[in-house]
Amino acid sequence: RSPYATQVSTVLPEDEAASQVFDEFMLANTFQGIMSSFQQICDLLHMHPQPHQVFYQQLKTRLTSWKAQSLWTKLDKRAFSKEYQKGKACSNTRVLIIGGGPCGLRAGIEVALLGGQVVVVEKRDRFSRNNVLHLWPYLIHDLKTLGAKKLFGKFCAGSIDHISIRTMQCIMLKVALLVGVEVHPGVAFEDLVDPSPEGAEHSWIGWRAKVSPADHPVSLFEFDVLIGADGKRNTLAGFTRKEFRGKLAIAITANFINRNTQMEASVEEISGVACIFNQRFFKELNEKTGIDLENIVYYKDETHYFVMTAKKHSLLNKGVMLQDHEDPERLLSRENVNQEALMSYACEAADVSTNHQLPKLDFAHNHYGQPDVAMFDFTSMFAAEHSSRVMERNGHRLLIALAGDSLLEPFWPTGSGCARGFFGAMDAAWMIRSWASGTLTPLEVLAERESIYQLLSQTTPESVNKKFTMYTIDPNTRYKNLDSNFFKPHQMKRYYEGGTPE
Ligand code: FAD
Repeated sequence: RSPYATQVSTVLPEDEAASQVFDEFMLANTFQGIMSSFQQICDLLHMHPQPHQVFYQQLKTRLTSWKAQSLWTKLDKRAFSKEYQKGKACSNTRVLIIGGGPCGLRAGIEVALLGGQVVVVEKRDRFSRNNVLHLWPYLIHDLKTLGAKKLFGKFCAGSIDHISIRTMQCIMLKVALLVGVEVHPGVAFEDLVDPSPEGAEHSWIGWRAKVSPADHPVSLFEFDVLIGADGKRNTLAGFTRKEFRGKLAIAITANFINRNTQMEASVEEISGVACIFNQRFFKELNEKTGIDLENIVYYKDETHYFVMTAKKHSLLNKGVMLQDHEDPERLLSRENVNQEALMSYACEAADVSTNHQLPKLDFAHNHYGQPDVAMFDFTSMFAAEHSSRVMERNGHRLLIALAGDSLLEPFWPTGSGCARGFFGAMDAAWMIRSWASGTLTPLEVLAERESIYQLLSQTTPESVNKKFTMYTIDPNTRYKNLDSNFFKPHQMKRYYEGGTPE
C-alpha cells in the first residue's frame, strides 16, 4: 500500500468528544473544574477508575490527540520504572489516603503506579492556597517527569524554582486521576472502623473508615493500608510526636495581586539564600521603618508572595501585637493581633524590600475571601516519632503510614515542606511495596521504614543524591549513606498493636 494513501479515520465520535474535553481538563485550574472535566471524559468513554489496573492503559488507547499522546509518553516512561513491576507490585493492595494536599496525591500516584487501588479523601472542595512552595532541584525534575510542564506550561520556566500550593495540587490531582486514583472532594476522614469478626452479623469484613458525610460511598471501601497525609494537624491516633522547640520564630506570609505588567515582571525576586548574606539590608530596613526581620523571601508567582520572619519587639512597636506574652500561642491569638497593623507591616516590608518597584500592593484574597496575610508561630515544630505502625483486629492487619507535613512539619521560610514531603510520600510507597511483596515480616517492613525515616529531617538540597534522573521510590536511589537495617525488627514490637506480628 502506498504510504501516501489517505488514512481512514477510525476515531470514534465519543473518543473525539472526550479528546476535546481532555483539552479542558489539561487547562483546568480549580479542584472542581478538574474533577468535572475528568468525570465528563469518563462518562463519554463509559469508563470508571475501576478496575484500577487497566484504567490508565484503556484511557491511553481512547485519547489519542497529540496533546494526550505527549503526556502519555512522559507518564509511560515513568510507569516503566522497574520498581513498579509493570503495575503488578501491589495489584492486590487497597489504600486509603487522608488528604489531597501535594503529598497525599503524590503518594497516591506512586501506589497507583505500583498497581494498588487508591482512594483519596479530601475534606475541602477547593484548592485555595496562594502561598508558594520552594522547589528543590530534584523536585523540579520529579514533577517534569510526571508531565508537569504539559499540565502547566509555565511550570518552572527559566530559573523559576517555585510554584503556588494551589497549582501544585492541580498538577498532582490531574496526574493522580489519570493513573487511576479515585479522589473524593468534600469528604473528611473521622475514624477507623474495625473489621468485623468472622461470622458476625455485619456484612463487611475488612478495615473501613468513618467519614463525614457519614453516608458517602467511601465509608464502604475496605482497605489494607492507610496513609495519613492530612497536614500538620494529623488526625490519626497512635502516633506520638516529638517537639523541636527553638527560639521564638514568627513568620508572616502575604500575597499581593499580580497583574502581570511589565513593571511587575522586572522586579527581582528575593531568594532564601540571597537574604542570609544581606545583613546590611535588614539593618537599614529596621533603621528606616522599625521593621526588624530575620529574613524575607519574595517569589513572583500567580501572586506576589512574601514570607518573612519578624522579631517580636518590632511587631509590638508597630502595634501588630497588642500585648507582650511569653506564650507564643497567646502572643499570636486573634485577640492580640491587630489585623490592620499586620497588613500595613507586611505591605511596608514588601515595598521596601523590593525597592518600591512593585507599582501597587493590593492584597490577593484567601480561602475566606479576606486579604491574604497571616502570621504563624514556628517556635515549636513537630515531627512524628515514628512514621508507621500496624494494627491487627479480628485477624486483619492494617498498615498505617504518615506522609508530608503530618510526618515532619516544615519551616516555611526555608521551603523544605514539599521536598521532604515528597521523599516521605515515596518512602511510604516503598514500604507498601515491601508489605505487598510478602517477602518481609510486618516487623521487618516497619524496621526498614523507620531506618529510612531517620534520614528525612537531615535532607537538604546538597545532601541528597545528585543523580535525580536515577530517582525512584527505592530510597537507595535518593538518600546517601542509607542503612536500611539501622533498626532491628524486634525493636518494632511497640508499633504493632493487637494480634501477633510474626
Ligand atoms: P497539606 O498541603 O496541608 O494537605 C493536607 C490536606 O489534608 C489538606 O488539603 C486538608 O484539607 C486535608 N485534610 C486535613 N484533615 C483531613 C481529614 N480529616 N479528612 C480529609 N482531608 C483532610 N509551605 C511553604 O513552604 N510555604 C508557605 O508559605 C506555606 N504556607 C502554608 C499555608 C497553609 C495555610 C498551610 C496549611 C500550609 C502551608 N505550607 C507552606 C505548607 C505546605 O503547604 C506543605 O508543606 C505542603 O503542601 C505539603 O503538605 P501535605 O500534602 O503534607 O499537607
